[in-house]
Amino acid sequence: MPKRKAAGKPSWTRSDSDLFRALTKSVLAKIKSGKMRMRKFNTSELGEDGKMAINAEWHKKNRMPANATFEQRVEWHTQHNKNCQCRPGFPKKLEEQMKKKKR
Ligand SMILES: [Zn+2]
Repeated sequence: MPKRKAAGKPSWTRSDSDLFRALTKSVLAKIKSGKMRMRKFNTSELGEDGKMAINAEWHKKNRMPANATFEQRVEWHTQHNKNCQCRPGFPKKLEEQMKKKKR
């Protein structure tokens, strides 16, 4: 399946990207070695190169606001589904709300 490209290029600097990648790597190393545990984290999701189906760059650029409205949450998850595979779909609660609104 071809990856869909997000509208607009993310404008983020090389150093930011490297820093975040290094951070992610160290966390993943801890998890792999059993020093750290993550809820709902499955090491089988890691590829041979240690990459997960998570678009860390997108996540860094797109943080969900703490007090996000319904619309913001739908928009966030819509964009998330297009850009990242770490948590496909919508949360159950949100999905129910969407069904209620879409009639
Ligand atoms: Zn994600």
